[in-house]
Amino acid sequence: MTAILSNLQATREAIEQAAKAAQRNVTDVRLLAVSKTFPAAAVREAYLAGQTAFGENYLQEALDKIGALRDLPLEWHFIGPIQSNKTRAIAENFAWVHSVDRLKIAERLSAQRPPQLPPLNVCLQVNVSGEETKSGVAPDDVGPLAQEVARLPHLKLRGLMSIPFPASDETAQRAPFAQMQKLLGQLNSQGLALDTLSMGMSHDFPAAIREGATIVRIGTAIFGRR
Ligand SMILES: *Cc1c(COP(=O)(O)O)cnc(C)c1O
Repeated sequence: MTAILSNLQATREAIEQAAKAAQRNVTDVRLLAVSKTFPAAAVREAYLAGQTAFGENYLQEALDKIGALRDLPLEWHFIGPIQSNKTRAIAENFAWVHSVDRLKIAERLSAQRPPQLPPLNVCLQVNVSGEETKSGVAPDDVGPLAQEVARLPHLKLRGLMSIPFPASDETAQRAPFAQMQKLLGQLNSQGLALDTLSMGMSHDFPAAIREGATIVRIGTAIFGRR
């Protein structure tokens, strides 16, 4: 058995266990395999092991892989910081964007989404509890931004994403994820219909699943150390 195949199996089992512990359906938690820095051959191997959704942070690297893997029915998610001069290529080549944190970027993605494609699925990146990167909208500003993004014609606002500061024990890990779940609930009580919490990485995905994650973004545990 190859490392990627056995890592994927172990990751799927851990997701299943965490879902069970949270009394959730395992089918409500999607695995996004984060393939940044790994070659197209590694993505192909993961696909042969049944994985179809892949996350990438760096646009040029992602475009090279998307081009090399056109023969496979893959779903590409952009999860990295977005510069405004990169929005067109993102709008044209991805099914999802998890890292929208300002209106200008959302407007460009909507305007540049090719009309023959389905709407681009979007999550707003929220800076909860001193997020590790400087990206992300402040929790207090999510509501107004979400209302504006939800109106853009070629985007489908799906939910929220976060990258909390790494914590070592599960109790500490759960606090920012719980805050995210609460935020999503607040937005939905304000008339939005959001179904996605993109949260949890290799070191903290069980805690994220406990707090309602619907997409976990996992790289290291599947592909190895970068
Ligand atoms: C790299 C990255 C991941 C995956 O992190 P691992 O610790 O390797 O699982 C998830 N989300 C984002 C936004 C990333 O940049």
